[in-house]
This record gives sequence, C-alpha cells and structure tokens, in this order.
Amino acid sequence: MLYHDYLKKLKACPFCRANKRMLVSNKHAYLTYTKAPYHPHHLLVIPKRHIVSFFNLSAQETEAIDALVKIGAQILKKLKHDSFSILVREGPDSDKSIKHLHYHLIPDIRIGDVDSHGIPRKILSPAEIKKISAKIISLAKKIK
Ligand SMILES: [Zn+2]
Repeated sequence: MLYHDYLKKLKACPFCRANKRMLVSNKHAYLTYTKAPYHPHHLLVIPKRHIVSFFNLSAQETEAIDALVKIGAQILKKLKHDSFSILVREGPDSDKSIKHLHYHLIPDIRIGDVDSHGIPRKILSPAEIKKISAKIISLAKKIK
C-alpha cells in the first residue's frame, strides 16, 4: 500500500492509538518505528498526548521527548548509523501528513545542496548575513 493511500484510509490519529508500537516509552512520550520509512531504521519519537504543535509541549513533555530522542540516537549508532537527521515538521505548510507532533530520526538522509525550493544553495553575502543576523537578534530579544 502506498503511503498516500494509507493516509486516505485513516479514520483516527494513528499516533494516539499506537499502544502496540511503543517500543520504548516514558511518562509523556514513546519511541517507535515509522510505517512509511525513508530508511529501514527510520525512528519516531511521539508525545503521548495529541499535540499538533511543538509550541504546545509542556516542559515535562519536552524533557521526555528529548530523553527518547537521545535513546533513539544511541540505537541508531548501535545500528552503525553515525550520521542521521532529527526532523520536526511545524506549521500548516510543513508537509506534516499526520497532525500529531512527531520527531523523525532518519539515518543517512541528506538534505543536500538544494534549498527548500530545489534550487542549489548559495552562500550569503556579508550584507545578507548582516541583515538576517540583525533580524534574528531583534526577534530573539522580543521572545526573552
Ligand atoms: Zn494523535
């Protein structure tokens, strides 16, 4: 079955009904495998509570997820994957197919030399770096 066909058949959140798939768990989150992997050792860390955005995680949930991401990373290293990506899709246009927050741990994936539009990445000019740095610093001050 193709992943997009699987998604069409879903009637309820699969991550809220994953008791049999909780390979490692703690009070607030669990580690499992993905049914539609980018790689055979593609792992997921998922909060037990149905949350769409990582902005809505409690401090305890964030800590629980972090602990399981580290366990997942150690599992991948034991599987001889010294390189992997940790990915979280956030926001309405992020291509997140299941609307329950989840952290991907994907071995051997390369985001590569293209940007999010498939265009070869370029190095920013000093003026561009100065402009984006000022913007980030300004925004960070408003968050504190
Ligand atoms: Zn859910």
